[in-house]
Amino acid sequence: MIPQDALSELQAMLGERLSTGKSDLSLHGRSETFHPEMPPDAVAYPVTTAEVAAIVQTCARHGLPVIGWGTGTALEGHASAPRGGVTVDFRHMDAVLEIVPDDMLVRVQPGCTREALNTELRATGLMFPVDPGANASLGGMAATRASGTTAVRYGTMRDQVRGLEVVLADGRVIHTGSRARKSSAGYDLTALFVGSEGTLGLITELTLKLWGQPEATAAAVCGFATTEGAIDAVILAMQMGLTPARIEYVDVATTRILNAADGADLPETPHLLLEFHGSDAAVATEAEHFGQIAADHGGSAYRWATKPEDRSKLWSMRHRAYHTILATRPGATAVVTDVCVPISKLGQAIARAAADIDVSSLDGPILGHVGDGNYHAILLVDRNAPTEIAEAKRLSDAMVAHALDLGGTATGEHGVGLGKLHLMEAEHGAAWDVMGAIKRSLDPDGTMNPGKLVRQN
Ligand SMILES: Cc1cc2nc3c(=O)[nH]c(=O)nc-3n(C[C@H](O)[C@H](O)[C@H](O)COP(=O)(O)OP(=O)(O)OC[C@H]3O[C@@H](n4cnc5c(N)ncnc54)[C@H](O)[C@@H]3O)c2cc1C
Repeated sequence: MIPQDALSELQAMLGERLSTGKSDLSLHGRSETFHPEMPPDAVAYPVTTAEVAAIVQTCARHGLPVIGWGTGTALEGHASAPRGGVTVDFRHMDAVLEIVPDDMLVRVQPGCTREALNTELRATGLMFPVDPGANASLGGMAATRASGTTAVRYGTMRDQVRGLEVVLADGRVIHTGSRARKSSAGYDLTALFVGSEGTLGLITELTLKLWGQPEATAAAVCGFATTEGAIDAVILAMQMGLTPARIEYVDVATTRILNAADGADLPETPHLLLEFHGSDAAVATEAEHFGQIAADHGGSAYRWATKPEDRSKLWSMRHRAYHTILATRPGATAVVTDVCVPISKLGQAIARAAADIDVSSLDGPILGHVGDGNYHAILLVDRNAPTEIAEAKRLSDAMVAHALDLGGTATGEHGVGLGKLHLMEAEHGAAWDVMGAIKRSLDPDGTMNPGKLVRQN
């Protein structure tokens, strides 16, 4: 419970922008997936960095946890409040502060979503490419080092964040990075905060790199006789210097589900869905070149298109895949796996995962950002059936163990939150203790998003 004097201080500061309403607390304790609800004691809605700093200082004085909240789409219980405390919801700090076309940079507040930013950029000829599917906040995306379908061409959040404003656990406000394209000036604190999941501080402003909007876009789809054929085609395409903007794998189960739900009419085989960005000539060359590579690897029914309606049909189908898969079992939730392996090992990793799921009692269609070696099994479970959740976690942990043996990672893009905490030691060994030391030096009282990412005391 939050002490009355702390509550009074926060109420005096924020007025109606401090909520203790039951439904608000419940909303901010939920996760998109199977994690149980863990609500905070209060939700704060700041409008300025100074207010964020004052909230953090009040919480520090009273030893209260502080949890950042963007749009709450993280999949591993990242933004839940296992120890109560104050959730800081950034929805009112959502401004695009400055667009600098000549430097291809933008300054935003953390609550600005990626779609809102791209709407604002539409007339400038520039865009922000990172696309995690959900319309997440840019603060949350930086905090989880998000990526998604376009990372194969444009990189992850790690590659887009040029600088940050951060409120530390003691309320100090610091600025990291600069507007320069590169710097050798000391420790890379920007990289430290990107992916720190709110455990080191709250991000209150971001300077992000922008990209030119492509002159032309082509979307392509290809069926494959086998998963190995599809993955080998991806490997060869990357080795030959093709630069797809997206290259997504969907297995037979996902293909069937997309056919049934979206009338996709795809042959019932594994598929690759691709997108190419560039000039008219460049996208045509890449699309045709990929068609030849696919044909050499058992690809069939290859189609590509540049018309917006054909492209958007293909990609909205892929973007809806998670919810379409969930809908195949009404009322179900998911344990979403997220391993990432060196691309040469991806065929092996997917084959083992598919074989394990086949002999389990659960359904788990597989899809992934295969240009990066990242795939997801959407393991469908009944939230109220502990045996199903245990089985899904067993499968997920087996996929991680195999990925680590292959030189990969427990999470390519979703992050650690609560769900991947028990895997950190196996992945990082002594390096996980170093993360703990960094955490203790920046947050000695452990108030910033406690219970997440580092070893717990
Ligand atoms: C259908 C679906 C598909 C998805 N696909 C992908 C995908 O392809 N790739 C991918 O990377 N992710 C994916 N995700 C996961 C999710 O969208 C990302 O993790 C996203 O980055 C979370 O952003 P958010 O604004 O919702 O953050 P939240 O969920 O609100 O918060 C996430 C974490 O960041 C912290 N945080 C939030 N704001 C701040 C801040 N300003 N300062 C400090 N810490 C903060 C929170 O405390 C929490 O630890 C998907 C999710 C869904 C539901």
